Amino acid sequence: MRKQIVAGNWKMNCDLAETEALLNALKSQIIPESTQVMVAPPYTNLQHAFQSVKDHPITVAAQNMHQAENGAYTGEVSAAMLKSVGIKHVILGHSERRAYFGENNALLAEKVATALRHDMTVIFCFGEELTDRQHGREFDVVKDQLKHGIFQISENDWKQVILAYEPVWAIGTGETASPEQAQEMHAFIRRTIAEHFSEATAKEVSILYGGSVKPGNATEIFGKEDVDGGLIGGASLDAESFMAIVNAFK
Ligand code: PEP
Repeated sequence: MRKQIVAGNWKMNCDLAETEALLNALKSQIIPESTQVMVAPPYTNLQHAFQSVKDHPITVAAQNMHQAENGAYTGEVSAAMLKSVGIKHVILGHSERRAYFGENNALLAEKVATALRHDMTVIFCFGEELTDRQHGREFDVVKDQLKHGIFQISENDWKQVILAYEPVWAIGTGETASPEQAQEMHAFIRRTIAEHFSEATAKEVSILYGGSVKPGNATEIFGKEDVDGGLIGGASLDAESFMAIVNAFK
């Protein structure tokens, strides 16, 4: 049975005091056993966050990492460094990394390989831009991102992978894919995995939807057969909204 997951991407928000306050608010809530809850604070607060939720069913993830083992890469953080402070989950390929930091499929394939070599779980993000959808090429773009960014992994590696379909036009815009659009794309992603790997792997991988998920639309989106939860940006910075989304599964 694949997992239901809600992950909060805090992006470049929350200093240490704010991180502590938000985690305390989340820790005071009951987390449903059926749902894996993750938060991804900025690098500087990962160690604190990991220690803070040690006895709680909340997983802490990093928002990015470098593909190299170590070396002269000023400003970067390695998989081993993340592991050394307890972090075993990493978001890779977020559209903001692709758009502002030039991350492409080839680079992401390297990052994925490094993370898996370190036995980390990858939350792999991808999704089409508005012009892709306007020109009817959203399926081709998504297939290409999967093929060149993550399909180099072995069948066995899929156990360490969570996918996050995030149409770029819906991220931070207030614009959401309709539940039907999300379902259509998630079913396509699963079919594509089945074609390249196996039905069993396709059935087991959790595919999250991301893009302006809010308490008001989460239940409908999460209610779709191939949607296993969400990657949440803006709404994850407010404990009440985030928990309402965590509790949105029927
Ligand atoms: C995101 O950044 O991954 C995201 C989905 O953001 P938002 O929920 O704010 O659209």
